[in-house]
Amino acid sequence: MTKAFFDHISTTPLDPRVFEAMRPYFTDWYGNPSSHIHDQGQAGLRAIDRARAEVGSLIGAKAGEIVFTSGATESNNLAVLGAVEAAGAGRRHVVVSEVEHFSVMNALIPLRNAGHEVTVLPVDRNGAVDPETARKALRADTALLSVMHANSEIGTIEPVGEIGRIAKEAGVTFHVDATASAGHIPLDVREIPADLVTLSAHNFYGPKGVGGLYIREGTKVAPRTFGGFQEMGYRAGTENVPAVVGMGAAATLAAREMGAWADHLSALGKMLWDGIATIPMLHFTGPASGRLPGHVSFWVEHVEGESLLLFLNMKGVMAASGSACSSNLRGHDEEDLVASPVLRAIGVPSDICTGSITFSLGKGNTVDEVRRALDALPGIVERLREMSPTYLDYQKRQAKGG
Ligand code: PMP
Repeated sequence: MTKAFFDHISTTPLDPRVFEAMRPYFTDWYGNPSSHIHDQGQAGLRAIDRARAEVGSLIGAKAGEIVFTSGATESNNLAVLGAVEAAGAGRRHVVVSEVEHFSVMNALIPLRNAGHEVTVLPVDRNGAVDPETARKALRADTALLSVMHANSEIGTIEPVGEIGRIAKEAGVTFHVDATASAGHIPLDVREIPADLVTLSAHNFYGPKGVGGLYIREGTKVAPRTFGGFQEMGYRAGTENVPAVVGMGAAATLAAREMGAWADHLSALGKMLWDGIATIPMLHFTGPASGRLPGHVSFWVEHVEGESLLLFLNMKGVMAASGSACSSNLRGHDEEDLVASPVLRAIGVPSDICTGSITFSLGKGNTVDEVRRALDALPGIVERLREMSPTYLDYQKRQAKGG
């Protein structure tokens, strides 16, 4: 039995068509695009230019507005640190949402150390930012506002269109981390006034080790990598040509097929959601509708997420931990299970939640695979709950009448 992979939010399998597009750039066309005096280098240069246009067209951008990076982490670092540095001494305030990825959050550490002020926007119970809170947070000295498009842990889609219009009115550079959403749901920079958008190829059936940062024409970003003149000076270093070609091919496929993928994923996601909704003491995280297609996340009272995942894996179902809800779990090294800032932000109670689960479906998943997960889950949940010390305490309290 091949195992069912339901962890597409961490990475997706490379589409075989993407692999075929990449192959010649490992074997036949290995030239360095900077050395384009000869055919080999020219082939690499042309391939990169084509990929730039392909990635641009996924989000309605011009080719020249896409900078290739090593992935989402680097793109987020470049966006945050580069935009704040370029904003200059008069703008030393940064605004981010409470649910941003660590590659945004931790980029704020050196900024705070250098005396920048950071405002963190709260989210509601579903993990959504209220655009009005963003409006109130922006100031004359705000250099950057960063709000993600979709949250990988709880599937929430943020109102980036409205937030972007507010940022534009205020004259503040707006960064959108679209790592979890690009290639899955539409994002068009001609409609959404984002100045910077982070993209990651391996999240939409492309290769790992390559990502992009959309930089709207006219937006000022200081480079973080120094050396040659590759990537319009934003990112020095010889390009990873096969990976960039793969990102371009994956972007083209996603632009063409994402609607069909989303229909398939939404149907499977609904089946999974409806099937597990009957499990006692189960709480979904993120909104019930208007979430990433095929993304189902939840936690179960008194059931430890990590154990649930291990048992699921034994039953041929691979899902992921959204991370622990509390850092002081019994019997665990605190370093292993760090409380998820996202779960804390949406108010999940850390005393009865010991780990959340994220099922993220992919275009290759089938009804049979979802059925397998649905067959396995209730029994595992019951078994783990019966073993849980917090559940035993709870039962004793119930028996005493409170
Ligand atoms: N942003 C978001 C929203 C993410 O979920 C992730 C992790 N997949 C990243 C950025 C960082 O991605 P990577 O580890 O591929 O650089």
